[in-house]
Amino acid sequence: MRGTDEDPTRWPPSWYAATAADPPFAPPLEGDARCDVCIVGAGYTGIGAALRLAEAGADVRLIDQARIGWGASGRNGGQAHVGQRRDPFWLERVLGAEDALHLWRIALDARADLDRLIAGHGIACDFTPGLLHVDHRRRDLTHSRATVEHLRNRYDYPHVDYVYGPALAGMIGARGYHGGMIDRRGGHLHPLNLAIGLARAAMAAGARLHEGTRATALARAAGGGWRVETPRGAISADRVILAGNGYLHGLSRPAEARVMPINNYIAVTEPLGAGRARSLIRDNVAVSDSRFVVYYFRLTPDHRLLFGGGETYGWRFPADIRAFVRPHMLRIFPQLADVALDHGWGGTLAVTPNRLPLLREVAPGLIAIGGYSGLGVVLAPYFGRLVAEAMLGGSPDFDRLARLPVPAFPGGRWLRWPILAAAMSLAALRDRL
Ligand SMILES: Cc1cc2nc3c(=O)[nH]c(=O)nc-3n(C[C@H](O)[C@H](O)[C@H](O)COP(=O)(O)OP(=O)(O)OC[C@H]3O[C@@H](n4cnc5c(N)ncnc54)[C@H](O)[C@@H]3O)c2cc1C
Repeated sequence: MRGTDEDPTRWPPSWYAATAADPPFAPPLEGDARCDVCIVGAGYTGIGAALRLAEAGADVRLIDQARIGWGASGRNGGQAHVGQRRDPFWLERVLGAEDALHLWRIALDARADLDRLIAGHGIACDFTPGLLHVDHRRRDLTHSRATVEHLRNRYDYPHVDYVYGPALAGMIGARGYHGGMIDRRGGHLHPLNLAIGLARAAMAAGARLHEGTRATALARAAGGGWRVETPRGAISADRVILAGNGYLHGLSRPAEARVMPINNYIAVTEPLGAGRARSLIRDNVAVSDSRFVVYYFRLTPDHRLLFGGGETYGWRFPADIRAFVRPHMLRIFPQLADVALDHGWGGTLAVTPNRLPLLREVAPGLIAIGGYSGLGVVLAPYFGRLVAEAMLGGSPDFDRLARLPVPAFPGGRWLRWPILAAAMSLAALRDRL
């Protein structure tokens, strides 16, 4: 299992785990079972799919090797970005104007769906509006300004504004940023409580959830459909959704060849008090920067700074994550040198070679989905829903996403790791230039 020696029976000790809502009771699978759809992975993707399928009356089982939201969904920065991982200019250049526009519309639908899920199921996840993208190099300002104009004029999206100079300095007490873009439809939230709330809704709709149930093998069943082996029983299902994302291992070669697990780290300060916290981020928006290895930060409701920074590319996490993140945080907030870090944890996300998401029927009745490349808070629950829609009778948006060109990583099974680690380290070097 990824993430060093983490205990799958409990969430990693994070600020999220310390402030989590009551999770529903979801006992491991004991014995054999049958269902219409078996979903492997209870993060946003898997839960989003389970919720939609259960609402439509399908017999659905959702299994996780650990807990609900134990993967990236319960550990992430909680930043709700609007859009795809690639900006509109890149999407237009590579996919064409029409597809880029469709992808933007799907991202807006995902954002609206997040509001609907939170309000409709009464999920207390502290959603707070506003996301500020900041540029760490002066030369990136032209791109930010062009993006704002393009989104406003071509995409009819009035929620963004360009900020720079004194206006930016008034918004954040951070060092080394020149300007950027505020997106008022973006925001931030408590990611684990979102996962727990969605899981509660899925179970209430009739989905059966089994925590502590690892899918150890997957095979075509003799009479059609699939058989998912787990340690204490097997599930026979007409269809299977693989939603293991960065944690998926050993179940589907075509999917795993296209997503690469990457470890990313977060630390949370001791409570700073309202005044000091607001001196860091005046309007309580989320902030995310233009580095290749992105720095992202925001305040928590109890006036701490939650800071994400630093990546590794192996199976193990650093032994002392707070000490690993601290220099990154102090580079941006040197005024916090006297502040203790109460929490530090790591998580694993999945990136694809070109950062487009992977939604694909990898074999008849077997759908793999993931590879949000660091942008899953808004997209993952909705893409889970789209997979469900595709199974329930068809979804043009799923079909469109399934056609996106997502190549395998170069290097095959053994060489792709060293090749990726070298490429990522080189790209991260550019952040310092
Ligand atoms: C540190 C960090 C910070 C991030 N910050 C942000 C952010 O601020 N904003 C943003 O939009 N995105 C962010 N992301 C990305 C975002 O969290 C993910 O894109 C999203 O959570 C993906 O959801 P998922 O359901 O696809 O995968 P996950 O949440 O990773 O869920 C996969 C689940 O599958 C289970 N699983 C895997 N294999 C098996 C198996 N064989 N049997 C049973 N269960 C299995 C795992 O236990 C896991 O619970 C961040 C990610 C990390 C790690």
